[in-house]
Amino acid sequence: MADDLVLTRLVGRPGVTTLEGYERVGGYLGLRKAVTLTPEQIIDEVKSSGLRGRGGAGFPTGTKWSFLPRDVFPRYLCVNADESEPGCFKDRYLIDELPHQLLEGVLIAAFTLRVSHAFIYIRGEYRAQRELLDRCVAEAYEAGLAGRGILGTEWDCEVIVHGGAGAYICGEETALIDSLEGLRGQPRLKPPFPAIRGLYGSPTVVNNVETLSNLPFIVLEGGAAYAQRGTAASPGTRVFCVSGHVERPGNYEVPMGTTTFRDLLQKAGGVWKGRALKAMQPGGGSMQILGPQHLDVPLDFKAVADAGSSLGAGALVVMDQTTCLVDVAKRLVDFYHHESCGKCAPCREGTYFESQLMHRLEAGIASESELATLSDICANMDGRCFCPLGDTATWFVMSAYRMFPDEFLAHCGAGRCPVRAARPAAA
Ligand code: SF4
Repeated sequence: MADDLVLTRLVGRPGVTTLEGYERVGGYLGLRKAVTLTPEQIIDEVKSSGLRGRGGAGFPTGTKWSFLPRDVFPRYLCVNADESEPGCFKDRYLIDELPHQLLEGVLIAAFTLRVSHAFIYIRGEYRAQRELLDRCVAEAYEAGLAGRGILGTEWDCEVIVHGGAGAYICGEETALIDSLEGLRGQPRLKPPFPAIRGLYGSPTVVNNVETLSNLPFIVLEGGAAYAQRGTAASPGTRVFCVSGHVERPGNYEVPMGTTTFRDLLQKAGGVWKGRALKAMQPGGGSMQILGPQHLDVPLDFKAVADAGSSLGAGALVVMDQTTCLVDVAKRLVDFYHHESCGKCAPCREGTYFESQLMHRLEAGIASESELATLSDICANMDGRCFCPLGDTATWFVMSAYRMFPDEFLAHCGAGRCPVRAARPAAA
C-alpha cells in the first residue's frame, strides 16, 4: 500500500531531486521542526520509532547515538554511502531519486548529535551520485540549510561529500574512517569504538544512507507513526534490492515483519521464465543462502536469523533451478579474495586458499578430500578474522555446501561442472 511507504513515497514527484522541487512536496519540514526541538527529544523519537541501522548490522539507531560521550567536542557524523555489497543497490537508488531526503536526514542527525562537520563518504564508482550530492549540498548552503547559522539558529554544520577509491572494505566503519583520514582503508581494533574515538580521534557516529533517509519522516510524523509500519520486533519499512533470476529486478520498499520472502519475490514478478526457485540470498553476497522452504519466512531480523541467515544489507539475490551453487560460491569467494585488505592472516591467506579450491572444484578437478580441506579452511576463518569480511567470506560457501552437498560432491573428479553440462542450451 502506498500509505505504508516512508522512504520512497516521494519518488518520481516532479523536480524532486532539486531543492525547490523537494521543498514543494514538504521537503526540509523535518529539519525545520528538528531545530525547534532538543537533541534529547529527537533521540527519544528515533528510539520510539525502533529504527535499526540499515547498513547490515541492524543496531538500534537511537541507542547508537546515545553512546556518544556527553560534552566531548569536536564530534563527527560520517554517512556510509560506500555501498559495495554484491546485490545491493538501494543507497544508489535513494541518492538518485531523493538526494535531498538523504541530506535532510544528515542535517537532522548532525543537529541532534551536535556535530559541526558531516562527511558523506560515497563509493568511488558512484561518480554521478557524488556529483548529484555535490549539487544538492551547494543548494542547501545557498538556502541557509547548511553552513553557518542554519535556519537562523546558532548552529553551524559543514557538509562534505567525499569519494572513496573503490575498496569494498571501506564500507566497514573504521576502515571508512581510516580512508577519510587519508590512510589506507583498513579496519581498526575495537574497542575503542568510533563513538568514543573515531574520526581524527574524536567521537564519531557512522550511519548508513537508508538509515538517515528515514529521519525526515520520523521527526515530522513522530516515531510512533514510523513504528506503526512493520511489527513490534522489526518496525518500519525497508528498501530491498531484488536481483538475479527474477522478472523485474529492482528496489522495493516493504513493511518489515509483515512481508515474507514470497511477497517480495512476487513484487519482483517471481522467478523468471516460469522456473523454480533453487536458492536465495537474503542479505547480499555475504549472507548464508536460504531455499524454497524459507519462502514464507517474514522479513524480520529474528525470523531470518532463526532460518539460518540474516537480512544483512537488504538485498535479495534469487537463483533459479539451473544455477550451479559451486559456480556462484567460486565467484563470491573470488570477490572476497580480491577485496581482502590483507591486514590479518586468516582472511588474507584463507580467501586465497578458498579461491584456489573453489576453482578446482568448479572445474571438476578437485578430489572429495579437498571438500574436507575447504571446510577446514572456512572453520579456521569464521570467527577468527579481524573484521567481518573474513567471516562472511565463508558463509555462502558453507551454507551452500550444507544445503546442496550432493552438488558439491558431484563436481569432485567430474572433469567439468555437472550442473552446467546438464543445463539446456538456451538457459
Ligand atoms: Fe582485512 Fe580481511 Fe582481516 Fe578484515 S578480515 S581486517 S578485510 S584481512
